[in-house]
Amino acid sequence: MIDSHCHLTDPRLFDQIDAVLARAAKAGVTAMVTIGTEIADDHLALEVAGRYSDRVRCALGIHPNHCQNTGIEDIDALSMLAADDLCVAIGETGLDYFHTRADRKKQQQFFEAQLALAVRYDKPVVIHSREAVTDTLAILGTFPTVRCVFHCFTGTAKEAEAIIEANALIGFTGPITYKDNNDLRKVVDAVPLDRLLVETDSPYLSPEPVRTTKICEPAFVAHTLAIVAQVKGRSVAEIDQITRETTKAFYGMTIG
Ligand SMILES: [Zn+2]
Repeated sequence: MIDSHCHLTDPRLFDQIDAVLARAAKAGVTAMVTIGTEIADDHLALEVAGRYSDRVRCALGIHPNHCQNTGIEDIDALSMLAADDLCVAIGETGLDYFHTRADRKKQQQFFEAQLALAVRYDKPVVIHSREAVTDTLAILGTFPTVRCVFHCFTGTAKEAEAIIEANALIGFTGPITYKDNNDLRKVVDAVPLDRLLVETDSPYLSPEPVRTTKICEPAFVAHTLAIVAQVKGRSVAEIDQITRETTKAFYGMTIG
């Protein structure tokens, strides 16, 4: 399995990283992509990918919730880091209209600058989009060559359809395992298998059955993958193989 999106640099995971990686290996997780959210975090994410290069790659970006107190010159710093081969994508970046930590104009400015970086380095983009799918797709439309994944999708069937139509991938996390999320499982069912990634977004969003008892970590991607298999009526091994190939192709990754 591959955890296509986690935050190994978050102190909740970083402070016990060797144990976290050991548990991931034991659960059958062969690769992880750790996602940076601001420049200091991006530095650390790159360092983690370097230290565990047999199984970790990174995506580097400035999260929409972290751009308010960031100058646009940070894009230059990001650009230097993102040139590294261990950086397999730009992000996470995008638009968050649910939280209000940065005004919309500023979020859009940082999103566009990072999409331009993706074009420059020919790397895919990890998109964070919260209550902002329409605007996110409109901006993406002005960068037609950029490949992207809408990570941690929890939106509607209609939104998923628009994302698939725009040629993007959709990443699913722990919430597809929650008992009351039947509508989201219907979305999983509707998304073509070759357009779907599994992820933890750890340390956030622990899946069932550890939802309320454990901090999320990459090993738990197995629970999310099992639900995808159940919804699709396929075996875990099949879903693992298909999502692994999609993830590796998307990130241009040789590990996993
Ligand atoms: Zn994330």
